[in-house]
Amino acid sequence: MSVKDIDKQYVANTYNRFPIEIVSGKGSVVMDDSGKEYIDMGSGIGVTSFGLCDDVWLKAVVEQASKLQHMSNLYYTEPCALLAKMLCEKTGMKKVFFSNSGAEANECAIKAARKYSQQKKGREYSTVVTLENSFHGRTLTTLAATGQEHYHELFTPLTPGFVHTKANDFEALKAVCGQNKTAGIMLECIQGEGGVVALDADFVKSVYNYAAENDIVLIIDEVQTGNGRTGELYSYMNYGIKPDIVTTAKGLAGGLPLGAALLGEKVEGVLGFGDHGSTFGGNPISCNAALSILERIDEKLLNEVKEKGKYIFNELENAPGAESVSGMGLMIGIKTVKPVSEVVEKCIENGVLCLTAKDKLRLLPALNIKMSDLEKAVGVIKEALI
Ligand SMILES: *Cc1c(COP(=O)(O)O)cnc(C)c1O
Repeated sequence: MSVKDIDKQYVANTYNRFPIEIVSGKGSVVMDDSGKEYIDMGSGIGVTSFGLCDDVWLKAVVEQASKLQHMSNLYYTEPCALLAKMLCEKTGMKKVFFSNSGAEANECAIKAARKYSQQKKGREYSTVVTLENSFHGRTLTTLAATGQEHYHELFTPLTPGFVHTKANDFEALKAVCGQNKTAGIMLECIQGEGGVVALDADFVKSVYNYAAENDIVLIIDEVQTGNGRTGELYSYMNYGIKPDIVTTAKGLAGGLPLGAALLGEKVEGVLGFGDHGSTFGGNPISCNAALSILERIDEKLLNEVKEKGKYIFNELENAPGAESVSGMGLMIGIKTVKPVSEVVEKCIENGVLCLTAKDKLRLLPALNIKMSDLEKAVGVIKEALI
């Protein structure tokens, strides 16, 4: 039986996989079981920040794996402590809670926002306001936060206490916050799964000011946009705001499961002993991997991300078959004239792996993708667009 057939028979049917089996990768090039190579323009949905089996990352993982692969959170471990310190120093946030995924990072943020508000304002302050077209995860609570009805169908009842409002409509958001006992506002500065749509700068700034004035916890979901993806360490830094909580995951550990909720001044002391926990959260291998990623996301790398993003924009903006290009840094969405599935299939045929988001082509290449790989991939995409 082939891997494909075994998978089809035994793995739950939740992923509509492309008919290729990837066996190995190095940098931004992956290989399938027949030996065919592909340039990876998705990096495992923004996960392998420095590509596949990057040497520095690999060393961090292997060294830690041969020393201590796991210890319960009853004891101190060095990678966890050092990573929390680095995250706080790079962002100005005060404390970090580690989990294993983006959804869990958001769960922690929601718990912190609710506890902060309920302690301070009263038990009825539980509502978290999020945006239409958002994506915050697949657990029943983060699904409730996700402002896309089609993800909710047949999974009700979801966790109560979430209200969605229109993106870029500040008056509407204000009204919704006023009508509810609002504990928090949660948003992605660039809606990833929603089609790589950046929020308006005015809107984000207004929401930030409003949350600060009304003592509402502002949570920025940086699960997809974080860790250098948009040309800043976190995407909120493009907007000149300071969130109360930042959540991140995907690219944080460069390919190992790790999520983090960074808690700012307002909420740093809210979660106490026993309020939250995770068996694997802060795992030493994941944290050591993340240290090897974060320490390399410096000004130089961020500038390269911006430059490469500009290159893709310039090449595709007026390309035949492309209606429009959106996004920031190396998080790019392309509205295609042809159905996007046809474009993706053509790209696969010609050795390039791309993602989609709604009806758009979505590119999230490794932050350090070689210019030669990027040029080759853009050439293939251009050809596939027509
Ligand atoms: C992917 C994603 C999540 C969920 O992350 P998981 O690790 O799959 O739980 C949450 N928010 C955003 C913005 C994401 O892109």
